[in-house]
Amino acid sequence: MISDRDTPAWICSDCASKVTKKKPCCACYHMDICEVCNEWKEVTQPRDYGYPKIKPKYDKIKILNSLENVKQLYIDKGQNYDAQQIEKRIVQWATFM
Ligand SMILES: [Zn+2]
Repeated sequence: MISDRDTPAWICSDCASKVTKKKPCCACYHMDICEVCNEWKEVTQPRDYGYPKIKPKYDKIKILNSLENVKQLYIDKGQNYDAQQIEKRIVQWATFM
């Protein structure tokens, strides 16, 4: 979830592989905002990469744009429930920071 700690709560494999050669053996990926590149991607916990030394970044505009794009994709596909879940995330991020 959203945090302001020294390590990101969620990281994508692209960002993780830039700072560590470690490969996760049992990572459990899900779709969310990567707290390093701020894009909507498959993410997992940094723990799965041995806690790489990497600071989370929160570019609010980029995060909200990423989420708006995903919401629009769901709306286009008629997946209203999923679009509502994304809308909740938008509200969370909009009120964070
Ligand atoms: Zn990333």
